[in-house]
Amino acid sequence: PDLARDVARALRTIRDFPEPGVVFKDFTPLLLDVPLRDRVVADVVARRGSGVDLVIGIEARGFILGSVIAHGLGTGFVPVRKAGKLPSTTHAVSYSLEYGEATIEVHQDAIPAGARVLIVDDVLATGGTAAAAVELVRRTQGEVVALEVILEIGFLQGRSRLTGTTVHALLTD
Ligand code: IMP
Repeated sequence: PDLARDVARALRTIRDFPEPGVVFKDFTPLLLDVPLRDRVVADVVARRGSGVDLVIGIEARGFILGSVIAHGLGTGFVPVRKAGKLPSTTHAVSYSLEYGEATIEVHQDAIPAGARVLIVDDVLATGGTAAAAVELVRRTQGEVVALEVILEIGFLQGRSRLTGTTVHALLTD
């Protein structure tokens, strides 16, 4: 509870970003508070123990969090990127946004079959991105251990798109 309170204090709310009407939660202040960052990592490590083989982080903020968490867990890190950014052969999954569509990719050879994978991102909103990441892991025949996020925006009901996946949010808004 103390950790959640302290993380809540470190998050900033920016109205009308990236467009009018959107309320954006900015976790970059958390990255400047080294003891707090380390507590966040220790919290994930305590919860996941030795049950993770690989961490995947979703571009771009998931790279930052996912890397420090992978370091804490002592595992490798796999980037999931927007379409066209990864240089080698990929699996790709598309999902719908409010306006239009997005595609994310992972290198086909990055996740061995049967690997226990932890997915990391900063915010769970509608769940479309996370559900696509789960599908990418499934294509590689990896096994999703859980999704870990800093903040879940509850009213958007992202969890409803993630049935069958363990979801842990440090904070729910
Ligand atoms: P979703 O697909 O609607 O769940 O959106 C989640 C993705 O969008 C994640 O990769 C987040 O990093 C990003 N995102 C959505 N809302 C916010 C926000 O308020 N702050 C930071 N990132 C956000």
